[in-house]
Amino acid sequence: MNTSTQHNPVKVPITVALGDGIGPEITTATLKILEAAGARIEPEFIEIGEQVYLAGHSSGIATEAWDSLRRTKVFLKGPITTPSGSGYKSLNVTIRKTLGLYANVRPSISYAPFVKTLHPKMDLVIVRENEEDLYAGIEHRQTDEVYQCLKLITRPGCEKIVRYAFEYARSHGRKKVTCMVKDNIMKMTDGLFYKVFQEIGAEYPDIEQERFIIDIGSAKLATQPERFDVIVTPNLYGDVISDIAAEMTGSVGLAGSANVGDHVAMFEAIHGSAPDIAGQGIANPSGILLGAVMMLIHIRQADVAERIHNAWLATLEDGIHTVDLQSEQTVKTVSTSAFTDAVIERLGQLPKTFKPVSYQNPTDQEITRSNYVRAKPSNKQLVGVDIFLHETRFNPDQLAEQLQSVDLGNLSLKMITNRGVKVWPEGFPETFCTDHWRCRFMAADSESSIKQSDIVYLMSTLTEKKIDIIKTENLCTFDGERGFALGQGQ
Ligand code: NAD
Repeated sequence: MNTSTQHNPVKVPITVALGDGIGPEITTATLKILEAAGARIEPEFIEIGEQVYLAGHSSGIATEAWDSLRRTKVFLKGPITTPSGSGYKSLNVTIRKTLGLYANVRPSISYAPFVKTLHPKMDLVIVRENEEDLYAGIEHRQTDEVYQCLKLITRPGCEKIVRYAFEYARSHGRKKVTCMVKDNIMKMTDGLFYKVFQEIGAEYPDIEQERFIIDIGSAKLATQPERFDVIVTPNLYGDVISDIAAEMTGSVGLAGSANVGDHVAMFEAIHGSAPDIAGQGIANPSGILLGAVMMLIHIRQADVAERIHNAWLATLEDGIHTVDLQSEQTVKTVSTSAFTDAVIERLGQLPKTFKPVSYQNPTDQEITRSNYVRAKPSNKQLVGVDIFLHETRFNPDQLAEQLQSVDLGNLSLKMITNRGVKVWPEGFPETFCTDHWRCRFMAADSESSIKQSDIVYLMSTLTEKKIDIIKTENLCTFDGERGFALGQGQ
């Protein structure tokens, strides 16, 4: 069956959450437009967000809501408020990660001259990795002075997002994919992301490829956005630059996004619940509406998606704007509901100045793309251990002396760093030290492998001397390649 050309007469069940703040206003507006446009959907409403958090679910979502999401596999989500306080985990992150929504697709397009922007030619898509990086949420306080957040970057995570970005570029007629990383500093984590970009990029010779370090890349994005087409980047950088990019088009209220996984997909606005304007009836529903357009394409109702998107473009062109878009191009500033009615009135019309959009239903392959194939395990050798200590004498030479006075078994102390900088041997007195010390132990000749029991023995002798061990990290080689970074200054 060729699903790409078939109309689907059956109503598709979708899960809908109205959300918090402006969520109910903009989500209801969007559903009204979808209904008027003839979307063949059957919404199933769930409660998530602030009220659910306050009712005692620290994740902001109850079991019945998960059941609905796993049944319908399609989620239209209004923005939600995460209550402040350390007891609440971000529901957005939980949903994205639990359901494996690894690709966050965020188009940012300028609508000049009808929406005021400094960048009238901007038309780019940010493909943000959605499950990993600092968003693992693994944080610890380790000493009086030091807190840690783990940045996890995985090969499957990189392969899935990079392949998604190239496939997206190909299927959407885009010509270039730019990788943005900070691999000059994070050589192993961001370095892996870029390495995978190069490996997978080699399979797409028809797509131009480039890399920017995220700092200069963001600067170029802010001044010359028209030079970008598709940007693929790890989670945190993608989060930051996609809000900036949306705001540069005229308003953060304009951008929709898709969170795509192999099993479930979620569609939303990129902005939050905007509590400052909630209940006033002035919010721009365009972000979630464009998210819903992406949803309609995903459920193979490209005909409806096209009708809504063109009506929305025609509305902008006619100068009918919500207050966030107000400029000299505005003919009439309208409320959320009047904007909604204006879009509905234009269903069936094409924009006159903007190029009308034209959508095709995606193929099965375009919907499920990751196809990650696990490589066979490498030959892993244990060659040492980093032991992290809480120690308040703030004197690395004394610390080294104390450690070396202990029976270290088969290991010897090679280096001490503080916040990553080598302070022993031969540290500088100018280096500021905290109470958090990383002590590197390796086999006496540094080349040989060691045993787990060597580490256990070392830890037991250190503990006997009342040395406060916070944590350990094994030092390994993988197929002979070093699997750990050197200390700064080593
Ligand atoms: P925000 O995106 O809600 O608002 C930022 C600014 O943009 C505000 O001035 C707001 O009025 C304006 N704005 C946002 N959407 C608009 C729209 N559709 N029309 C007109 N103006 C709009 O960001 P925030 O204030 O930092 O966050 C508020 C809450 O939203 C927080 O609890 C945050 O955790 C949550 N949040 C949720 C999501 C999500 O559900 N996907 C995303 C980001 C933030």
